[in-house]
Amino acid sequence: MNVPFYGHVRQYHNIKAEIDSKISEVLESGQYVLGPMLKKFEGELKDYFGSKYAIGVGNGTDAIWLVLMALGVGPGDEVITHPNTFFATAEAAWIAGAKVVFVDCDPLTKCIDPSKIEAAITKKTKAIIPVHLYGQCADMPAIRKIADKHKLFVIEDNAQAIDAKGDTFKQGELSDAVATSFIIQKNLGCFGDGGAVFTNNPQIDGIVRKLRSHGSLKRDHHSFGFNSRLDDIQAGVLSAKLKHITKWSDQRIQHAARLDKGLKGVKNLTLPYAKPGYRHVFHLYVVETKDPSRRDECLKFLNDNGVDAKTHYSIAIHKQEGFPWNKEYSIVGSVANAERNAASCISLPMFPELTNDEIDCTIEKVLEWDSKA
Ligand SMILES: *Cc1c(COP(=O)(O)O)cnc(C)c1O
Repeated sequence: MNVPFYGHVRQYHNIKAEIDSKISEVLESGQYVLGPMLKKFEGELKDYFGSKYAIGVGNGTDAIWLVLMALGVGPGDEVITHPNTFFATAEAAWIAGAKVVFVDCDPLTKCIDPSKIEAAITKKTKAIIPVHLYGQCADMPAIRKIADKHKLFVIEDNAQAIDAKGDTFKQGELSDAVATSFIIQKNLGCFGDGGAVFTNNPQIDGIVRKLRSHGSLKRDHHSFGFNSRLDDIQAGVLSAKLKHITKWSDQRIQHAARLDKGLKGVKNLTLPYAKPGYRHVFHLYVVETKDPSRRDECLKFLNDNGVDAKTHYSIAIHKQEGFPWNKEYSIVGSVANAERNAASCISLPMFPELTNDEIDCTIEKVLEWDSKA
């Protein structure tokens, strides 16, 4: 049996009629950019998310730097994040012109370790970007406390964590804005590129809305801006999918529980850590080899045996080839946890449409490697 890593086409087939009808509604409307479907979807999105505003933008990377720019964060400023995330988190800060300052991640959740943040704060620090990595919220109350004390902005990168919640908090409550991505491999994915900004701040909403479309809200009236819009066909696809997101997250959570149970006795791997009380939506189900030097061998064994496991992310950002080009960055303290995560992580197949047989096949192959390891 082969266990695929993604279920995009299965998902499309399951709700084909709903998606096709939204797409044809847009095609028939003749309005494909900043049209009525985008407006409708933005309304649905903010209601679902519980924020005052939702702005559709071109992709998740743009969502982050458009917010930074709206907040006036740019050249001469510093932005704190952690290096074991998707490259775009740091890239967005560089696009805005800021310097990236990396601190370590928490050894259990792999999200930013709030206890490492204060040592990295200087007079130039303007913002913290916590990433809700793998589908689990970062420790937002601790981050908020530090941000309040030092008057910093907080932008949540929730590209991997739509529908996730903290124990005592919701996304967007303890930050200035939340940036998300709708590229297909995310938990809410369209059929191309897409992203959104959520905020309760009318100034951020107003500026991002202008910046995304040539600095313009009105024909022939422009200020400085860009072109980063969520088009109406993608908005239609997302509008159809949004109705299913809670169910899909629940399915991911069930699959994670089945994997946890089946893999409970493994000796050579650490299983993902879900914080008590948090809704971890398992964008990714990431195990780690206890011995980082055996990761590649384990990954190869799974791949050779039909389990399409991958790595997220096998090279920390500051270790990427060619880094740092001309981009400014610094590392404060040790980032050993982040580097260990990069060296030892393996993402097992995880998507809502997985069957129990496929999950059991993954378990069987992992146990087979573990018993030989
Ligand atoms: C996917 C992702 C992004 C970027 O999203 P794009 O839509 O590809 O630009 C940013 N941050 C994280 C953590 C991501 O996983």
